[in-house]
Amino acid sequence: MSILRAEGISKRFGGLLALSDIDIRVEEGEFVALIGPNGAGKSTLLNVLTGLTPPTAGHIALDGRDITHASTHARVRAGLGRTFQRGRLFGRLSVIENVMTGVANRPGRSGRELRELARAQLARMGLERFAEHAIGSLSYGNSRMVELTRALACEPRVLLLDEPAAGLNSGEVEDLMTRLRAISTERRLAIVLIEHNMGMVMRLAQRIVVLNFGSRIAEGTPAAVQADPAVLAAYLGE
Ligand code: ADP
Ligand code: MG
Repeated sequence: MSILRAEGISKRFGGLLALSDIDIRVEEGEFVALIGPNGAGKSTLLNVLTGLTPPTAGHIALDGRDITHASTHARVRAGLGRTFQRGRLFGRLSVIENVMTGVANRPGRSGRELRELARAQLARMGLERFAEHAIGSLSYGNSRMVELTRALACEPRVLLLDEPAAGLNSGEVEDLMTRLRAISTERRLAIVLIEHNMGMVMRLAQRIVVLNFGSRIAEGTPAAVQADPAVLAAYLGE
């Protein structure tokens, strides 16, 4: 059974059909990349999956349970974690406090336990030295890594990442790739990665889903998708 399954997802914004009858399945521990030109509907699909925006049509199931109408919080508790295309950290909180807001999605823990768990998550990501730093004092790259750490602190079973490498330098991209590969194998976490960096997609993804103008135009292994004429045409705007 797929850990995440969405069927017949459509999303209309006024006159614009941003998503048209999209089916997507993710298996436990699988690494899936979601690609497509700007405006293809990738972020909208993530927003629908995480409950940030309701679909116009379609159903979503997490681990076999229907979550189509569940709140974003209920989805996080059920095991759906995410990061945003434009980072969303709490600027007035320290690094560790931001990660604690992620751990807090697991109910019934004391403040002290939350702090210890958050510290362990930071250590796992090599960020412990920044624990007491203000978010605003971090480099852009480190703040994106804190965002990823916060998403992992929810102990998700599926992690949805919206362009996590955007704005990172090449060393940071390498570091991110190493971490993502380790996360997906060690935690048996399913990952859906939206990414424009094709080198990264080709090296990480087991399967690629391609959107264009709100429709799924291709799906398959990196090699198959790379050679697909419909995908090339979409990227060349033909
Ligand atoms: P991608 O992430 O693939 O670049 P998006 O999902 O952000 O694409 O956008 C898909 C389409 O939906 C675009 O044409 C975009 O302008 C439109 N869109 C996204 N969000 C909204 C919104 N809240 N209201 C109206 N149109 C939107
Ligand atoms: Mg986007």
